Amino acid sequence: MLQTWEPVIGLEVHAELLTQSKMFCSCAVIQDYAAAQPNTHVCPVCLALPGSLPVINARAVEFVIKTGLALNCTVGEFNIFARKNYFYPDLPKGYQISQYEYPLCQKGWLEIEAADNGMGMPLLRRIGVTRVHLEEDTAKLTHAEGASLVDFNRAGVPLMEIVSEPDMRSVDEVKAYASKVHTLLRYIGVSSGDMEKGAMRFEANISVRPAGSSKLFTRTEVKNLNSFRALVRATEYEIERQIRVVESGGEIVQETMGWNEMRGETYPQRGKEHAHDYRYFPEPDLLPVEISRTEVERIRATLPELPDAKRDRFLAQYGLSRYDANLLTAERLIADYYEACVNQPSATRNPKSIANWMTGELFRLMNETGVSIEQVKIEPRDLVALIELVSDGKVNQNTAKLVFADMFATGEPPAAIIERKGLAQVSDADELAAIVEHVLDENPKQVGDYLGGKEPLFKWLLGQVMRATQGKANPQVATEVLKAAVEKRRST
Ligand SMILES: [Zn+2]
Repeated sequence: MLQTWEPVIGLEVHAELLTQSKMFCSCAVIQDYAAAQPNTHVCPVCLALPGSLPVINARAVEFVIKTGLALNCTVGEFNIFARKNYFYPDLPKGYQISQYEYPLCQKGWLEIEAADNGMGMPLLRRIGVTRVHLEEDTAKLTHAEGASLVDFNRAGVPLMEIVSEPDMRSVDEVKAYASKVHTLLRYIGVSSGDMEKGAMRFEANISVRPAGSSKLFTRTEVKNLNSFRALVRATEYEIERQIRVVESGGEIVQETMGWNEMRGETYPQRGKEHAHDYRYFPEPDLLPVEISRTEVERIRATLPELPDAKRDRFLAQYGLSRYDANLLTAERLIADYYEACVNQPSATRNPKSIANWMTGELFRLMNETGVSIEQVKIEPRDLVALIELVSDGKVNQNTAKLVFADMFATGEPPAAIIERKGLAQVSDADELAAIVEHVLDENPKQVGDYLGGKEPLFKWLLGQVMRATQGKANPQVATEVLKAAVEKRRST
């Protein structure tokens, strides 16, 4: 019998925090390293000059606690920063201040929608969160021809590490977990999650085992995955590679792997370091950080409505499908825009049509143009006004899409665009009757065939009427007028 394999995956998410200043000094944190002059945001502390001493950034600690609470973690009362000793040119001190035995947050979980169960209901899975801790980022190395350049602007930027349990069993689950963490960090405002600017990176711990086994097998770590795409491709590749190795009688070696985006392959970087290689010890320049329960509750009170709660509320309050509710709550600003529309004082406001316009036309145009929700020019009241114009029969659905595209480009209210472009729907039966007569006179053969029993030709004739009005005819009125007119010809 063919052996089937089950992947076992844990994920580390590294996220730069959105604080004003660095982790242990008052240098500014810049969001776009590529745009800034190298080595312009540095001081004796983040350059590790002799005699300089670190001071803990309280806001960074608060952000990690906020994250831990959103991930259902327990917040430690007693927390210690530790030195992680290793040498690398991007690490000015020769060690990194991190956390080891006493991280700020531990033992949480995050619920993901793993897959559809085939009945339209999602399969919910809880992924364990081992710990959330705080450390400092390294400097950035650029390897130019004949030289390596180092930029210390990034050295000492607060970096949060979220470590999951090895609870994921498929690439889909990895993707769902990673994007859920991304959504969550943006919701609570602790990280931009901007992967293009390096604000979020992943590391996947991967092993495979015979399906049904509960043992953990030797794993590899794939480091420095800088996008969802890289994470998914590298995980897929590494699972297949490991299966190939074990099926051909080989053994998996515990090691750290890199990811070659161009070749689409993982490759061994170095043997696995063990914790003892880093000679962790408590950072002697910093006092332990004690967090009172009052402080934890104060921080908990600053949490906004979280994505799952918002999705469930959208389901109950607006009667949306789960699919739409997920799409509309994936970004906090999108959810805010949706609710701004729903809360318009309009007689015909309809939460479902607003959802349809947003997940359909709006998202399509945003994707095509690379515009984000905060740059969208359409005012919520104008989106609702357009829906109202459709339901009042002032424009038909197809024309409304054209008007919407114009609103997206110009930010003009729909009525002004309809007026300017002469797009108002023709609902006047007399006006349409004249056009219908003209169409019937022009197409005597089709009229004859229809009356002779070729039913589908009615649609074709209606299409001619729509064309003659440049799509502005009210389809219901046009149908009635056309029906009456051809029937009249049958009796003559
Ligand atoms: Zn500094």
